[in-house]
Amino acid sequence: MAGYTPMMEQYLSVKAEARDALLFFRLGDFYEMFFEDALTASRELEITLTGRGAGMEERVPMCGVPYHSAEGYIARLIEKGYKVAICEQVEDPKAAKGVVRREIVRIVTPGTVMDTKAAQEAANNFIVGAAESGGRFGLAACDLTTGELYVTSFAAAREAVKNALNVYKPAEAVGDEAAVRLIREESAASGRTILCTERSDYDAALLANQFPNERWAAHEDVRKAAVARLIGYLGETQKRSLGHLRTVKAYEPESYMALDAFTRRNLELTETVRDRSRKGSLLWLLDRTRTAMGARLLKRWVDQPLLDRDAVDRRLDAVEALHRDWMRREGIREELREVYDLERLVGRIAYGTANARDLNALRATLERVPALQSLCRDSGASPLAAIADRMDACADVAEAIGSAIADEPPVSVREGGLIRPGFDPKLDTLREASQNGKRWIAELERQEREATGIKSLKIGFNKVFGYYLEVTRANLGALPEGRYERKQTLANAERFVTPELKEKEALILEAEESMVDLEYETFVRLRDGIAAQIPRLQQLAEGLSALDALQSLAEVSAERRYTRPSWSEGYDLHIEDGRHPVVEAVSESGSFIANHSALTRDNSILLITGPNMAGKSTYMRQVAVICIMAQIGCFVPAKSASLPLVDRIFTRIGAADDLVGGQSTFMVEMKDIQVMTEQATERSLVIIDELGRGTSTEEGMAIAQAVIEYVHDHIRCKALVSTHFHELAHLENSLRSLSNGCMAVKESQGGVTFLRKLVPGAADSSYGIYCAQLAGLPDTIVSRAYSLIESAQRPAAATVCETAAAFSPVPNPEAAVVQLSMFAESPAPEKPKKSNSPAQDKVLEKLRRLDIMRMTPLQAMEWLNDAKNLLTESGEPS
Ligand code: ADP
Ligand code: MG
Repeated sequence: MAGYTPMMEQYLSVKAEARDALLFFRLGDFYEMFFEDALTASRELEITLTGRGAGMEERVPMCGVPYHSAEGYIARLIEKGYKVAICEQVEDPKAAKGVVRREIVRIVTPGTVMDTKAAQEAANNFIVGAAESGGRFGLAACDLTTGELYVTSFAAAREAVKNALNVYKPAEAVGDEAAVRLIREESAASGRTILCTERSDYDAALLANQFPNERWAAHEDVRKAAVARLIGYLGETQKRSLGHLRTVKAYEPESYMALDAFTRRNLELTETVRDRSRKGSLLWLLDRTRTAMGARLLKRWVDQPLLDRDAVDRRLDAVEALHRDWMRREGIREELREVYDLERLVGRIAYGTANARDLNALRATLERVPALQSLCRDSGASPLAAIADRMDACADVAEAIGSAIADEPPVSVREGGLIRPGFDPKLDTLREASQNGKRWIAELERQEREATGIKSLKIGFNKVFGYYLEVTRANLGALPEGRYERKQTLANAERFVTPELKEKEALILEAEESMVDLEYETFVRLRDGIAAQIPRLQQLAEGLSALDALQSLAEVSAERRYTRPSWSEGYDLHIEDGRHPVVEAVSESGSFIANHSALTRDNSILLITGPNMAGKSTYMRQVAVICIMAQIGCFVPAKSASLPLVDRIFTRIGAADDLVGGQSTFMVEMKDIQVMTEQATERSLVIIDELGRGTSTEEGMAIAQAVIEYVHDHIRCKALVSTHFHELAHLENSLRSLSNGCMAVKESQGGVTFLRKLVPGAADSSYGIYCAQLAGLPDTIVSRAYSLIESAQRPAAATVCETAAAFSPVPNPEAAVVQLSMFAESPAPEKPKKSNSPAQDKVLEKLRRLDIMRMTPLQAMEWLNDAKNLLTESGEPS
């Protein structure tokens, strides 16, 4: 290294502490980067690359950004996945002997950014710590801006890691090699960048120190290791005490409904499939929160539906109380409007970055608490009263802020104007002195104008010359000789000073400087004092976010006429007039068609056939979404719903249907099915949409049938299966608990109308050619396709079956329309072989079941009459 200048040597030694970060090296008013960092930064930020003599013959590459605008540049680098180490001058350059001492004060990384853009307020920014050992995976997820820390563990399998990461969507991960490898694989597969850093340190003292109230002995080793690595990393990068990170929220993955990544995506819980936007998702629909922290909590609720019935009921009780009482709900919403993001305020207070406006926001928030408490207490709902009881209005904190901080303080805390007059007599004296001085100067200006007769004479101030008298060139002649000392010449004016002006100026500036210093000190003392109250403030934040999330659910439920679900004891699921909440919300008012659902032990699998666009996918998702909404604690879009607690929802869409993601292949589909066979239990809900699409028809159908049989015989969970293989309808005969259903379609001259009503029975066509016709294919192609089909057509299978009537509580008038054949209009259809009509089948079936020995002759007569009527009504020759 010999040959470098001392400053460059200092640079290199600082850089050695942050090899994997871009080093922003403070030189005067700039942050400079050198060597590789300069090349990278100039490329990424599109700033000019220069060079600097460093004592060697070669100049080294350099580029820089002004310190006052560094924030934007840093944010851009972080967004691109870099870490940025900020190196500051840590002593006064004037006092320094030799090179000014410099140190890294913080390393900013994607998972530890503290300044959040408004757009991200409603989302968390997580960094995860991870550890893998003995087949177990420990995960610690932390949001540094809010001080939340969640810890869990599970079997170290790709699938489980993927599911956990999907809840947190971390920007960054730290952990041992094996753990990080799993995370990297997942990050690559999902296309979401997670910046990974390997480390396997474990510092027990550090853990104990950061979380003094935690009983670490009770935690599984991989959990401890995950937290330890995270805390180690945060310590090294943040270089400050993390006073807001004090509570560990540990949980078992089994406490929540298991939702794999695909299912979340497919059900569009927090983002849409199409463009991954929040708009159009279930969360978007349910989010009527008034605070950013409430919005973040609601997102966690949607991400993690509960399995504990008591816990769900507590939420539902609260939602019901607010649902029924519009006035109270409005009152709460009104109060919440003035509640700020307490979690992040607390984060900034702990970080020492909160300004006076933040403290005023804190006070405004605290002042809302008493009113919210009484609104909750009088609600008659014990969960709301419990929230009120856990809230601490922290009146002492509010009062301390109120008495010290000015009403409209500036953003900067270094320029005075923070502290309220009357708070500190010493400060008042200084302020008085400065104000007196300024009054004196105003008076001087008046006197001088009078004495000289120059109306435009004025006294101004700038940072270089201090106070001065300014006279325009035209008026210079009117000035008395020798009174004024010339200081500066402008284009059309001259500036002067006088000894007494300078004297006063010194007094004013001195007072102002002391005032600014004293204000800053007072402010910091107050902020540090509040930092000591962080646990109380965090507990309050929890209560406020919960209340906000609950009122949000109540608001949507009331507005959209949702009903409170009840819990069915055991297995069965009944939904009367269920709707898909999002499809309903975005369709024209009143146009959504409600449908029943009944999945019971005897009818646990519903096989839905029907053409494209008939509404199959929507129907199946609606059942899943209703279960999720219920387990979040929300009312559901249905006339009534009696639901079991579902432990897992599994959805899979046939490969060909999933073009949007662009990553799904038949292989992925099969792997997912494999996971389902392994993990689904009797309490699960399985949804398979368009099973077996990605391969040949014969194979696809064979696989579909085999999977359905497996679910029926081995898993015995509730399942909704849609297929375009209407040939699979025969499964109803061999699988006891499977019934057929289809989406009703009405055919007429003009074409096909989708009734979007689920009816018993199977569709007899996929209407694929009809679709082709709709799409405008040439008539030649369409009619050729029809004639090909006809020549290949086996005799049409029996159409609508009555056996599935069990899931339709009311007889369905539309049931009959489905069986109208598509081919009736096409030329010369082959006549199907004569077989029993459904009515005949029904009569025969009834006859078989008849217990003649227990009938009176009259009953027998009546029965015969009914049977005859049935046949006549359905058009059978009598
Ligand atoms: P499929 O899966 O049978 O092809 P989808 O479920 O995708 O059909 O539904 C097609 C379209 O029909 C959806 O985009 C939706 O707008 C509309 N739709 C579905 N179900 C209903 C319903 N119950 N009421 C009104 N419109 C519906
Ligand atoms: Mg579909």
